[in-house]
Amino acid sequence: MAKSNSFKPGRHLLQVPGPTNIPDRVLKALSIPTIDHRGPEFSEIAKRVLDRVRAVFKTVQPVIMYPGSGTGAWEAAIVNTLNPKDKVLMFETGQFSFQWAEQARKLSLEVDFVPGDWRTGADPKIVEQKLSQDKEHKIKAILVLHNETSTGVVSNIGKIRQAMDSAKHPALLLVDTISSLGSIDYRHDEWKVDVTVGGSQKGLLLPPGLSFNAISQKALDASMRSTMTKSYWDWKPMLENNKNGFFPYTPATNLVFALDEAINILMEEGLENVFKRHARLAEAARTAVKAWGLEILAKNPDEYSNSVTAVLLPAGHDADNLRSIILNEYNMALGMGLNKVKGKVFRIGHLGDFNETMLLGTLGGVELGLKKAKVPYKAGGLMAALDYLSK
Ligand SMILES: *Cc1c(COP(=O)(O)O)cnc(C)c1O
Repeated sequence: MAKSNSFKPGRHLLQVPGPTNIPDRVLKALSIPTIDHRGPEFSEIAKRVLDRVRAVFKTVQPVIMYPGSGTGAWEAAIVNTLNPKDKVLMFETGQFSFQWAEQARKLSLEVDFVPGDWRTGADPKIVEQKLSQDKEHKIKAILVLHNETSTGVVSNIGKIRQAMDSAKHPALLLVDTISSLGSIDYRHDEWKVDVTVGGSQKGLLLPPGLSFNAISQKALDASMRSTMTKSYWDWKPMLENNKNGFFPYTPATNLVFALDEAINILMEEGLENVFKRHARLAEAARTAVKAWGLEILAKNPDEYSNSVTAVLLPAGHDADNLRSIILNEYNMALGMGLNKVKGKVFRIGHLGDFNETMLLGTLGGVELGLKKAKVPYKAGGLMAALDYLSK
């Protein structure tokens, strides 16, 4: 086995579901010499980026950019719109729903956490039921993940919005799109989402370090009344400064340059084509998994994620052992199983700057690894994906 400190020839395949591979054009934009973030040149760039990034969320409302991770943007969504001890409704879809609920509790919110099996998304029927029963409107917000990265399950946000409308309930809708934005169709305005939380390092073709809140008028109104403690995450000084292309503190200047280029790339391909590419490559990945005779963690085909596929190993086989063999032998990183599915699943990230040959390389690496790790599987997954892609 290759030692971790020895030279590994060829390209490292980074197939975790984020951070993802970064296009060379974006790497170049990152390396532009840093400029004064209070000067006129930066202000022009920032205004342009703040304007253009809205298209990625499918919104005409303001989008706020923080220097920070996705977890920070979760916190921003909460502390700007809610009040201490507010009740919120959440669904246990997997590890990230767990972490957001934990954060909400730490911020004093009362979380009605609907238990889940880590194989399905948030259920619109339960949303409608819970909201219809809540005659006094105690539930102030629904916090849901569009794409649960730990399980590869997508929740149907359009249907959740319909359920909220049917129940005629005024709760806010806060949605995490950290691993779906720029890879799975998402519509902030059409679905009347109040805060969309995004991050730079998954579908947006960027390194970690930027995170986002896209906000609705209703969320802005709520922010005027919110009494949660906030400072760094406060929307108000952000929105005021952003009007002139400035920020209340130092923005991640080079990530802003890089985002400008990433938006160019997404728009050159066309967002709808980006979604189609992800759908096709994801289906090819799932075709391989099924041909191997392995099970996809996501139960319902209409909830399959087009950015990540979690694959269950047969009982008695350790997914972390498989991953470490694949990393050491074939120089490819796959996503690990988190929390309740630790050691039971591995995850293939198929999002961002990604194409057919990268997918085939990835699936080839998995198939080699399955054999080496002596996991029982049927040969031919790679071939099945190739057949699917050449149809
Ligand atoms: C990665 C991820 C997060 C956490 O983002 P960080 O940038 O690590 O804070 C939250 N939610 C989802 C769905 C994610 O995929």
